Amino acid sequence: MPKRLHPQAYIDGVCSGDRMVLSRAITLVESTLPSDQLLAAEVLEGCQKMLQGDPFRIGITGVPGVGKSTFIDAFGMQLVQSGHRVAVLAVDPSSGLTQGSILGDKTRMDRLSREPNAFIRPSPARGSLGGVTRATREAILLCEAAGFDRIIIETVGVGQSEVAVHSMVDFFLLLMLAGAGDELQGIKKGIMEMADAIVVNKADGDNLLPAQEARAAYESALHLFPLKPGGWSPPVMTCSAIAGAGIPAIGKMVEDYHGKALESGYHRQRRRQQSLAWMHETIHHLLLERFFADESMKIKVLEMESAVESGKIPPTVAATQLIAVYLQQTAK
Ligand code: GDP
Repeated sequence: MPKRLHPQAYIDGVCSGDRMVLSRAITLVESTLPSDQLLAAEVLEGCQKMLQGDPFRIGITGVPGVGKSTFIDAFGMQLVQSGHRVAVLAVDPSSGLTQGSILGDKTRMDRLSREPNAFIRPSPARGSLGGVTRATREAILLCEAAGFDRIIIETVGVGQSEVAVHSMVDFFLLLMLAGAGDELQGIKKGIMEMADAIVVNKADGDNLLPAQEARAAYESALHLFPLKPGGWSPPVMTCSAIAGAGIPAIGKMVEDYHGKALESGYHRQRRRQQSLAWMHETIHHLLLERFFADESMKIKVLEMESAVESGKIPPTVAATQLIAVYLQQTAK
């Protein structure tokens, strides 16, 4: 049994900005032990009450090698220098297999990891996308309660995790490279459509001109998509994360967006929608978990599986019958 603190000790520690307690609280919400989940719920409730201000969540995605950690290091420092407190989290459902492909190594964000006003959390080592997403949402709340007002969420631009991250952030930034077609970069059209801004990284040296050309090409591609809510038209910019060129302009663009979203009320409206979506998703998640963890249902599910496999019963009918049995059983 891992050593745990008293719930109030987590709440007090997190809300006073104690990073050690914040780390431990994130470990707690990542845990799948039922006793930890009860404790986590209490801690989250206590922390939620202490939330202040309008923290801004920024999702950053792009294929491995595009320069995400280099960019976050530079961009995060820019935010810190403008007086913000920055937390960096990761959603990487693949890390269970690849031993942590992002944020696994803190030294990748060299400056930010030494900055007292920044907090970097390596990605959780295991779990399904659903589990990792739940834990990340809760980690965001803990970081916000700890006084971090800019939350950066990194994810690998290869599939499902973008959709999950998009649903929990206020701004979604897609990093791209010049000289490689969209297909080559493995970026799906749907991901480009979700972007609130595209940044072509590595605009330096011999790559400067190709980066500028890529910027123009993405700009015309984005014109084909409808405007974002609030009339935002996603800009396409270039930068050299390694040299820092273009980073201040990107910082300003992102902050302008936040300012406008606050002013128009869109920020709060979106936060309310996100909270509702989070609640609904959690209901799905908990119901599924309970259904499949139920010992007596396990046998019935196995029986139905073989009936469906052998074509004796249609899948929908099997599912409906299983749910009916489960509901009957829980009503007793
Ligand atoms: P990630 O896998 O997306 O997190 O990418 P990294 O930040 O680890 O960067 C991958 C490689 O690209 C590293 O060797 C970086 O030094 C390099 N890199 C990142 N940003 C730039 C840049 O702006 N210009 C150049 N020339 N190289 C960069």
